[in-house]
Amino acid sequence: MNKFDVAVVGAGVFGSWIAYRLVAEGKRVALVDAYGSASSRASSGGETRILRLSYGSDELYTRMSMRALELWREFLGGGKELLFHQTGALVAAPAGDAMLRASREAMRNAGAPFETLEAEQLRRRFPQMPFARDAEAVFEPSSGALMARRLTQSVAAAAHREGAELLRARVETPQGAGHLERVLTCTESQIATETFVFACGPWLGKVFPDLLGERIFPTRQEAFFFGVPAGDLRFGAHALPVWLDRTDPRLPYGIPDIEHRGVKVAFDVHGPQFDPDLGERIVTAEAVAEAREYLAQRFPALRGAPLVEARVCQYENTSSGDFIIDRHPAWDNVWIAGGGSGHGFKHGPAVGEYLADVLAARRPPEPRFALASKHTVQARAVY
Ligand SMILES: Cc1cc2nc3c(=O)[nH]c(=O)nc-3n(C[C@H](O)[C@H](O)[C@H](O)COP(=O)(O)OP(=O)(O)OC[C@H]3O[C@@H](n4cnc5c(N)ncnc54)[C@H](O)[C@@H]3O)c2cc1C
Repeated sequence: MNKFDVAVVGAGVFGSWIAYRLVAEGKRVALVDAYGSASSRASSGGETRILRLSYGSDELYTRMSMRALELWREFLGGGKELLFHQTGALVAAPAGDAMLRASREAMRNAGAPFETLEAEQLRRRFPQMPFARDAEAVFEPSSGALMARRLTQSVAAAAHREGAELLRARVETPQGAGHLERVLTCTESQIATETFVFACGPWLGKVFPDLLGERIFPTRQEAFFFGVPAGDLRFGAHALPVWLDRTDPRLPYGIPDIEHRGVKVAFDVHGPQFDPDLGERIVTAEAVAEAREYLAQRFPALRGAPLVEARVCQYENTSSGDFIIDRHPAWDNVWIAGGGSGHGFKHGPAVGEYLADVLAARRPPEPRFALASKHTVQARAVY
């Protein structure tokens, strides 16, 4: 008899939650990662990630985000550490923006809490980031910032406490077809199980080059943290929400000065192609200048603020931005979970729940997560 029922390859936010759910269902789980959970190379390795409910007309993700928030809260229930900061989320856009309108409708349908802020209310409520007089916004009071790296590692540790074995090894590309008996690792060991889940984030295209090499697009993304003036509380988690700025075509977004690490600013447009193993994680001078220029415009009091930290991470985009959570077509017991596409972190708990349900035939597969809907040319549809 095999030692494990399921091997989950990849201990990012998706794999860790999948392992945690499966172990809770009594499965014997191995959680394997090449570099360790939420390493500096992993997409889940950043310090902070936004949890928001606004998704335009994509009610699927609004509902998933709501469910994920419940599960994050449940997970953190007894925790002493503050790993979710309920700052609220602000999504600003030019007045009449179709996506904002669609977000409101989807959130209303889903029963999500939100307020609409007209230009004047917006300027009064958040004077530290004065938007133009033709802007409007949605404010989600229950949303906020997740401490990504620590949360991912906490979930992996919780899976371990519940009985999962954590292994450090790179799993090699499986060979053959039909029913996969075992995989080999770079340490020349073997893992034999009944079911395999590959939650390898931006590495999925390397693990399955034929199937996913041209269907997962890892892109280089830079994030900047700017220091706030001494004694100034206007940029902390109690005064400033996490925010997405649709008034600018570069789709800037940011996170307040959490844990005194500086105000985070980044752009959601996709950067160039990036290798998650070998890519150097040093930001460019041009990107720093662009972030500085934006910061000065959006937060006048932070004009000239020093850059106190910067990070290079990668998105693992699918053609549309929809996740891939589906069975590998070559094997009856190999599953793929990934394609977070720059918005996946918040959904980790809901992805774990979804896959555990699908594996146990408790719910039908969601067509938008199907491999068949993922193409080799990018046409982003999820924001
Ligand atoms: C700059 C940036 C900002 C973002 N902002 C947000 C946000 O605000 N809100 C949000 O919800 N999402 C956000 N995201 C997206 C989110 O972080 C990702 O979608 C999510 O973390 C992906 O998790 P994952 O588990 O799929 O991948 P990863 O975290 O990359 O985990 C994959 C793991 O697989 C392991 N692995 C790979 N290949 C192998 C192998 N062969 N054998 C063993 N192990 C292997 C890796 O070591 C890695 O640990 C952002 C992403 C970035 C880069």
